[in-house]
Parts: sequence; structure tokens; C-alpha cells
Amino acid sequence: MTDPDPRRVAVVTGANRGIGLEICRQLSRRDELRVVLTSRDESKGRAAVDMLRADGLHLDYQQFDVTSDRAAKVLAGRLAESYGRCDVLVNNAGVMLDPRGSRVLDSKVATYRDTFETNFFGPLRLIQALAPLMKKNGYGRIVNISSGQGQLADMGTGTPAYRVSKTALNALTRTCAAELAGSGILVNAMCPGWVRTDMGGAAAPRPLTQGADTAVWLATLPKDGPSGGFFRDRKPIPW
Ligand code: NAP
Repeated sequence: MTDPDPRRVAVVTGANRGIGLEICRQLSRRDELRVVLTSRDESKGRAAVDMLRADGLHLDYQQFDVTSDRAAKVLAGRLAESYGRCDVLVNNAGVMLDPRGSRVLDSKVATYRDTFETNFFGPLRLIQALAPLMKKNGYGRIVNISSGQGQLADMGTGTPAYRVSKTALNALTRTCAAELAGSGILVNAMCPGWVRTDMGGAAAPRPLTQGADTAVWLATLPKDGPSGGFFRDRKPIPW
């Protein structure tokens, strides 16, 4: 289908709360974008969309659980049918499943498997599903929401499954950026810092607005913008 609406289409995962919701809020303020908020729980996602609409923002909704291969294909089909395009993908959905105080030596392999299913395979399956739509227009912005906890340059202890899932996501960012070089699709990872969300907790110093800012910047980069980088506060950080 050819949609006469010239606006670009941006998809954000895990956006019913936290940083994903704030990314949707900031992206939907931009006239050139149509934002598709997605969530695994449809009622929570629709409630989030209604809340943003009550603030005068316009955005669409699609149910999407990042752990499902089938759902990724269904989402790609729906985007193709509804808009004929997908221009921006923000892989935000994430889980931290490590029990409190967990260390590598006492952690369960199953925790790593479950964490990877969301934090690594989720972005992988969505990139595979949506990059073909981006390639069609020679334009794409893929933003992987990573974490300083995945930095090899500053690797510490605690939450080991979460850490290695984000390191793997960083590697995926690099290899995708290399594979897509010259295609018009820019692929970057970012760390939001320690942000006050359900995951970050009430003691986190950063508000949502600050946590979302770099992701929104990467989602709207000009064509000569960076690709294959890792950023916090719009500045490169070590891998
Ligand atoms: P959050 O408040 O816990 O929100 C996580 C979001 O991911 C929720 O909407 C959750 O949906 C969704 N989600 C989880 N599993 C999903 C699945 N299988 N399919 C679809 N959605 C799923 O976390 P946050 O702090 O906003 O974190 C957002 C991203 O930032 C994550 O990737 C996280 O690792 C990263 N990050 C956060 C911090 C921080 O300090 N907060 C720091 C560094 C990186 P439900 O409501 O259905 O559970």
C-alpha cells in the first residue's frame, strides 16, 4: 500500500512505562514523525497512548512482545500494510532478572537465557523484521537502548545476566552498523544513565526526560550522523 502521508514512522518497544514511554512522548512532539507505541500488554499500552493523547499528542498503537518471532513478523506486516514504511526503530524493552546480590558463580543459566530472550534476541528479531522496510526507502535509524553495565571498558560485578545481555546488544549494534554501512540506515547504542523508573528505582538521580534525550537524538540523526557508536548524553562512551 502507498500511504500519501509523508511523515516517517517510528516504532518504540516496551513503551507503556519508563524510558520507552518518555521516548514516545518526545518523538511524538516532532511534526515529521508518526510514532507507534508498542507494549506486550495491550491494555497497559493503550492506557499509555490515551494518556499521551490527553496531553494533545498524536500516536498509534500496536501490541508487541519482543520475545516472539511470530509477533515480529506480524508487526512488520502490519506496518507495511498500514503505512508502507518503517523509518525508526527504538529497541527499548528490557528486563533485569538477576536476583538481588547475584554473582556469576552463583547465578542460574536460565536467568541468562531469559534475559537474553528480551534484551538481545528481542532487538535482533526486530532488526531482522524491520530493516527490509527501511532498506526500501534507503533510510533508517535503529537505536538500541543499552547500559553502562554492559561496557567491557568498565565491567563490574552484580546483575551478571543483565550485564552480558547488554554487552551482546552492543556487539550486535556494531556488526549491524557495519553490515548496513552505506544503506542510509544508522545503527547506534546508548546508555540512558541511571534513571528513575521501575527498573532504575526511586534513588536514581536522573529524570525520564534526561534518560530519553539521547535516544531521541539518535532516532532523528541527520544523514551524516554517526553509526556504530555508543553514546550517553549525546557523547560517545567506550564500549
Ligand atoms: P522499566 O521501567 O522496567 O520498563 C521496561 C519496559 O520494558 C516495560 O514497558 C516492560 O513492559 C517492557 N518489556 C519487558 N519485557 C518485554 C517484552 N518481552 N516485550 C515487550 N516489552 C517488554 O525499565 P526502564 O528503566 O524504562 O528501561 C528501559 C530500557 O533502558 C531497558 O532496556 C533498560 O535496560 C535500559 N536502562 C535503564 C536504566 C535505568 O536506570 N532505568 C539504565 C540503563 C539502561 P511491562 O510493563 O509489560 O513489564
